[in-house]
This record gives sequence, structure tokens and C-alpha cells, in this order.
Amino acid sequence: MVTKECLFCKIIKKEIPSKAEYEDDEMLAFDDVNPQAPTHILIIPKKHIEQVADISETDAEIVGKLVLIARKLAAKRKLEKGYRLVFNNGPHAGQAVYHLHLHLLGGRKFVWPPG
Ligand code: AMP
Ligand code: ZN
Repeated sequence: MVTKECLFCKIIKKEIPSKAEYEDDEMLAFDDVNPQAPTHILIIPKKHIEQVADISETDAEIVGKLVLIARKLAAKRKLEKGYRLVFNNGPHAGQAVYHLHLHLLGGRKFVWPPG
């Protein structure tokens, strides 16, 4: 299901341009427009799920694929020294776009705990 008003649904429909890193029938990965690291890729399902809190049991395969695509893109980018995968869920986590997305960040050292 693709929602008309959703920014990432518009990217899926190519109504808004993006720099694609991976695409198949179910999934899309593209460069973040405001990168926070040398590699900053967003991996999204084409199914419109608003946030982690809305993932259902039947979405388990989709969520697994998000992580597998992230792992493959990290290998392609040769992020051997490490990378960070992030799901922001809700306002306290700073979620800005309410279409499920996994951030793949790499190419620099990150601090822990995060801000
Ligand atoms: P979040 O805060 O987890 O909801 O992250 C949303 C991310 O989407 C941010 O890192 C933004 O920079 C990114 N973003 C917003 N608009 C676009 C766009 N048109 N193309 C690519 N990335 C975008
Ligand atoms: Zn959407």
C-alpha cells in the first residue's frame, strides 16, 4: 500500500527524485538528502508502515529484509570498521518521516551513548 501524501511513498513512486542504492519489488534504499556520515542510506519497505510501533507479526520478513539489505550495502561500501543501524520511533527519538526506514550510517566513528 502506497500512501499519497507520504514523502517516502512519493520517492517510491519516483514523484520525488532520490539516489537509489538498491531496489526490488518490495524494498528501496536511497541516499539520505542530509547525510550525517560519509555513508548515510535509508532502507525502506514499499509497504507503507508508519513506524516500528506499527510493525505486525506478518511484517517480520520485510523487517528481516531491511537488515539484510543494510548488511549488503555496508559490505559494498567496505564499512569493515563498523557501521550503525538506526530506527527512530516517535518524537522522542526525532522521527521526522512517518514511513518505516532503517538508517545505515558509516564511514566515520560514532559515539555511544547517542545524543
Ligand atoms: P527520521 O528522523 O528517522 O524520520 O529520518 C528521516 C530522514 O529522512 C532524515 O535523515 C532526512 O534527512 C531524510 N530525508 C528527508 N527528506 C528526504 C528526501 N527527499 N530524500 C532523502 N532523504 C530525505
Ligand atoms: Zn509512505
